[in-house]
Amino acid sequence: MRWRNLGESSNVEDRRGTFGMRRVLPVRGKASALVVLLVMVAGYYGIDLTPMLTGAGPEVSISEQDSRRASPSAADQELARFTSVALKTTEDTWETVFKNSGLDYVPAKMVLYTGVTETACGYGKAAMGPFYCPADQTVYLDLAFYDDMRSKMGGGGDFALGYVLAHEVGHHVQHLLGMDQKVRAAQSRTDKAGANRLSVMMELQADCYAGVWGHTMQQGGILEPGDLAEALNTASAIGDDRLQRQSTGRVVPDSFTHGTSQQRYSWFKRGFDSGNPQMCNTFDGNR
Ligand SMILES: [Zn+2]
Repeated sequence: MRWRNLGESSNVEDRRGTFGMRRVLPVRGKASALVVLLVMVAGYYGIDLTPMLTGAGPEVSISEQDSRRASPSAADQELARFTSVALKTTEDTWETVFKNSGLDYVPAKMVLYTGVTETACGYGKAAMGPFYCPADQTVYLDLAFYDDMRSKMGGGGDFALGYVLAHEVGHHVQHLLGMDQKVRAAQSRTDKAGANRLSVMMELQADCYAGVWGHTMQQGGILEPGDLAEALNTASAIGDDRLQRQSTGRVVPDSFTHGTSQQRYSWFKRGFDSGNPQMCNTFDGNR
């Protein structure tokens, strides 16, 4: 994707390395000039500010791993900036789509975190992969997922990561349109297999919505050769059947909650080719 000249979203909260607490950042730029001024003024009045500046006070022990997390690598920083730019492109896409239907799009928030974090849906753990919490309308993303995606899921590339993010934003769109509430109500009235089928429909619709985002990226000349193949490859790689076969050696369709590789591939493609969310009705049995 040609993303480097695009703007970032203002709806990102960076909690990496903080474990839910505010990170204490070193004083830089204007702030450091202020500190120098403070020290000079305090010195004039005979007040010693040294303990404050050297951080004397309660000792905070940070393990080696935590301090590594607290100062992310340049590659991680670039990845974080990419996700922020990608989120902004989803905001632009859905703002236009909503406006065309006479609706206002309220953007989702995105939290970047490391390991574990608090959410309105309980604790978010990196092991869960990226997810959307409707209760706080936030997408939670541990960037370590990207390493997993590249190594274990046969995916990778910026557009592939964009697809995953756009899928989560797709759940936000469903939430804004009240679909998740309807599906949850229907799920409570049916058996386990029926509930799983409804879950698959929700997930495939989010894939199709991600495709709609991909379409606008294509129209905007942001995609590069190979990008679409990357995303389709990832969509196939994270199908329930493929993941189940990898972990258990067999496939049990009734327990599917996201859809098969073929389904995920074709619903993403359907959104991508049409650019029309109306084409994303996964609930009408036309699958
Ligand atoms: Zn999903």
